[in-house]
Amino acid sequence: MFDDSYYAEFYHSKLIQDLTSSIAENESALKINTRIINEYPDLLKQWEIDYKKFVTDPETEYADGCTTIIKYTDCADLAVTIQKNKIITAKNKEITQNDYSEAFRFNSVIENDLRAQRSSLAELNSTSTDSLNSNIGEYSIGVAFGNESIYLRSFKDNPISGETIRVMIHEFLHAYSFHQNKELPAAFDEGMTDYLTTKALTYNEFDSIRVSGYPLEMQVILALLEKIPYESLVRVYFTKDEVLLKKLITQHFPETSYAILMKKYNEIFESTFHVNGNIMLRHELMIH
Ligand SMILES: [Zn+2]
Repeated sequence: MFDDSYYAEFYHSKLIQDLTSSIAENESALKINTRIINEYPDLLKQWEIDYKKFVTDPETEYADGCTTIIKYTDCADLAVTIQKNKIITAKNKEITQNDYSEAFRFNSVIENDLRAQRSSLAELNSTSTDSLNSNIGEYSIGVAFGNESIYLRSFKDNPISGETIRVMIHEFLHAYSFHQNKELPAAFDEGMTDYLTTKALTYNEFDSIRVSGYPLEMQVILALLEKIPYESLVRVYFTKDEVLLKKLITQHFPETSYAILMKKYNEIFESTFHVNGNIMLRHELMIH
């Protein structure tokens, strides 16, 4: 359990660590894309060589031995082979060109990200850790790392508040339901975690949504529970069985596409973080 001064330090180093690993990931993606961009002229040359070998040369051969004077017995086969080779080489060219333009496009996005990330990192490294930024998003009052450790922030004026207990239950649920190699979509996982937290605290639906750090994510859970039995959703949560989740949703909401539902659900989840991190605090405190 951390008081504000310790939590500030933890939070500060956690942000630096996250940012450093994002920068490393972006740098390696940039390198891979740059290699694709640099290899492009050589790949195009190779493509021209292949095209001559598999299309132009056989076409010359066909014109020579299969049109006016029939020299070969397999002219029909040769014509089919040429057609096939044309399709394959066209496809190969399309793939090469696509890879090139995607690499080009992604790199300009990555370069922008990297610029922003490097300046945030420089700023973080030059700020002191003795106080908490008021506009804190993720990790603000608690975080669970796998099933090994849980950090909780304790407030000087109110070390064990109702908020702390609620966050503690939330983080315990994350830790207890943690599986090494299985994950559910984050929006569902956070929605269920907060739903079960408020259920453990015997809150009614209205209060549950009012105090939740993930109120929209939890409302989706409430909507799912109108048709899917509680025990089944709890089983999904504790086994992190996404196959079962998909099966239940398809069975109880036959008119809904699982993929579209999860895409929209994750957009809600991302906007929760966006709203919290950059524009305003929708809720006083965020938990993860
Ligand atoms: Zn959480």
